[in-house]
Amino acid sequence: MLKKIFEDLMELIYPSNIYCIACGNLIDKTRPYSLCDSCVRTLKWNNKSSCEKCGKKLNESFSQNLCSDCMESQHFFEKGYSCVEYGLAERKILHNFKYKDKAYLCRKLSEIMYDRINLENLNVDMLIPVPMYIRKQRIRGYNQAELLTKYLSIYMQLPYYKKVLVRKHDTKPMNSLGVEERKENIKKAFTVKDKWVKIIQNKKILLIDDIYTTGSTVDECSRMLLNNGADKIYVFAFAAGADILKKV
Ligand SMILES: [Zn+2]
Ligand SMILES: [Zn+2]
Repeated sequence: MLKKIFEDLMELIYPSNIYCIACGNLIDKTRPYSLCDSCVRTLKWNNKSSCEKCGKKLNESFSQNLCSDCMESQHFFEKGYSCVEYGLAERKILHNFKYKDKAYLCRKLSEIMYDRINLENLNVDMLIPVPMYIRKQRIRGYNQAELLTKYLSIYMQLPYYKKVLVRKHDTKPMNSLGVEERKENIKKAFTVKDKWVKIIQNKKILLIDDIYTTGSTVDECSRMLLNNGADKIYVFAFAAGADILKKV
């Protein structure tokens, strides 16, 4: 009921028959997720083989069940999920989400995410977004992970807590760093606020972000949540970076 009212209201404010969320072409209302036919075909949907641990899409010729990152390193989270591999079209969508009509995009992305997570028999108690450094969030005006979490919490009918995890300081952009540097960069970047410790005790938490790459950010968040009494952490991102096969 609540979901229906929310959707009707959002439809009124941000009608969903405007443009394709990836290429911007005009589309009609019948297009699922507001994607045109061509973009639906172009997107790298993560619907075949994926890494058993982090959920990253695996190369079809790859015979292992784990991606190369997960073969090398352990994660603090239980299991990860994602909807698409992070390629050019996916980058465009997330770029539009960050810099264009964010409410419209966010609604569509969370619909895709909701349908994806619904395929899993996942039993979680609450959702928590990966936090942004507060000063950075003030400049941008919002945290995209937090927006996705807010919409998903309505679709999933689960509470979400945006203040449990706090990013204590800004970190260097991760895309220029290697795996070990990423881990070092993110170490101790997050904290769980004392007043929220009680709420996560023995809870199963779905941690939400827009992109998953090597997992060092969500791992550090998971470590902090587990250290503060959470039971299990699951990770869910709209897009996950491609599995880079390392040369031996
Ligand atoms: Zn399109
Ligand atoms: Zn993996």
